[in-house]
Amino acid sequence: MKISHFGIAVRDLKSAEQLFAKLLGVSDTHHEEVADQKVRIASFELGDARVELTEPTSGDSPISKFLDKRGEGIHHVAFEVEDVAKELARLKAQGFQLIDETPRSGSHNTLIAFLHPRSTNGVLVELCQNLPKKEGQ
Ligand code: ZN
Repeated sequence: MKISHFGIAVRDLKSAEQLFAKLLGVSDTHHEEVADQKVRIASFELGDARVELTEPTSGDSPISKFLDKRGEGIHHVAFEVEDVAKELARLKAQGFQLIDETPRSGSHNTLIAFLHPRSTNGVLVELCQNLPKKEGQ
């Protein structure tokens, strides 16, 4: 596994994006909406990894719930794997609690799945598999 990205929960994507652009000294941002998770994302590439600023688009987004409970901050750490389904099976067999029993689609043309922070020292862990690029991307 290697680090894919950090997800940071923010209330105001625009101002957070300006702040992180200043912090990281970069201006190249990727924008995306992930309907499945009811979030809007602005991400910065840092070497092989990304920082993803994540703003909820709806009150029942998991990010809304996180912001209400914990406030802004690091939401999850994502590890890149070759095969999410295979890793889920391996980790389940080792006693980890899964949030997602099967992979679903994430940002940047990926398949993702979350592990429950109860079984990972309070850290929300995402597994992330890059899919082959589609035509025209
Ligand atoms: Zn993520």
